Amino acid sequence: MPTECKTYAAPACQVPLAPHTIQRRDVGEDDVAIKVAFCGVCHSDLHQVRDEWGKGIFPMVPGHEIVGHVTQVGPKVTKYKVGDAVGVGCMVDSCRECKQCKRDVEQYCVKGASFTYNSTEQDKTTPTYGGYSDHVVVRERFVCRIPDNLDLCAAAPLLCAGATTFSPLRYWGVKKGTRVGVVGLGGLGHMAVKLAHAMEAEVTVFTTSAKKFGAAKELGADRVVQSTDPEQMKAAAGSLDLIIDTVGMSHDLQPYINTLDIDGKINLVGMPENPHPPFEPKHVIACRNFVGGSNIAGLAETQEMLDFCGKHNVVAEVEKIDIQYINEAYERMLKSDVKYRFVIDIASLHK
Ligand code: NAP
Ligand code: ZN
Ligand code: ZN
Repeated sequence: MPTECKTYAAPACQVPLAPHTIQRRDVGEDDVAIKVAFCGVCHSDLHQVRDEWGKGIFPMVPGHEIVGHVTQVGPKVTKYKVGDAVGVGCMVDSCRECKQCKRDVEQYCVKGASFTYNSTEQDKTTPTYGGYSDHVVVRERFVCRIPDNLDLCAAAPLLCAGATTFSPLRYWGVKKGTRVGVVGLGGLGHMAVKLAHAMEAEVTVFTTSAKKFGAAKELGADRVVQSTDPEQMKAAAGSLDLIIDTVGMSHDLQPYINTLDIDGKINLVGMPENPHPPFEPKHVIACRNFVGGSNIAGLAETQEMLDFCGKHNVVAEVEKIDIQYINEAYERMLKSDVKYRFVIDIASLHK
């Protein structure tokens, strides 16, 4: 029998979030039921409640940086038991048998992954609802273990911001001495800095906010560049092997391309509503540069990231909020006024 679940939801596009009740399915044979303790607030939540990517499913319960404790497991579940600290990121299912699912990149499932919210289950009909809610029921394969030494609240943003930045750092083989640039010091950007620093890369932060200079260094940046200052951008020309661009607004890529060395790459992860202006092919051709992108991380890689964070004691910098504050939090996020991730204390749902 489905159980009632308290949530916060956007009733329709552009309408503020408010309390809302949904039904969660009963625990199936390979399901894990989780009492949600904390849920991070990703800029993707904001893009989607405002329907900036289109095809939004409302009412929408956002949230894909979910951490909590297992309350029940189905009979076929082997990896988790009641009481375990676990996390759920951006996906809750996929076809599990296509070429991409078989190589553990479920986010590229050829039949379409089931994202944690604003998506559908694999029946392509039942809407999914995210972690701004008191509990979730998720297939075991899509649940990760949170290392014991990590603070649960500060670990929540690892499930999206951590995974999304870890994946391209690994894919492009970042190691000691790799010169990594990070564009935008927000939720994703600050995780990219911490992770690249833990991989012993040389990290450059590009920020539009002069007030973030000191903090960028404290997070592990070796160099900070004011991206709005053409002189500083010129001084950084040809100095980087890899750039992770986390900016969620349309912006000119050309100044960043100019900072790539021969064979340098830009990996976009920010997903703006509108396209970036075109860039000049001359530099990328002359320097064998590549501009591409990547989507979150598969489940195996997300667990690898969590274990890496456990080993290196890496968590997010968070501002803990009650769920009643969510609409103000979105307004502050739009102004880049968050250090560096809001995390909702889900206990506040019952206030
Ligand atoms: P966020 O916390 O709001 O951070 C974005 C940062 O970008 C800001 O802190 C700001 O940093 C910079 N910025 C904002 N507006 C800018 C502008 N107009 N020009 C230049 N810089 C600007 O957002 P987030 O949660 O990190 O998410 C960032 C983007 O990644 C969003 O589009 C989100 O949807 C996307 N995302 C993609 C994936 C994926 O799988 N590809 C996964 C998760 C999120 P400074 O103040 O330092 O300039
Ligand atoms: Zn996200
Ligand atoms: Zn698949």
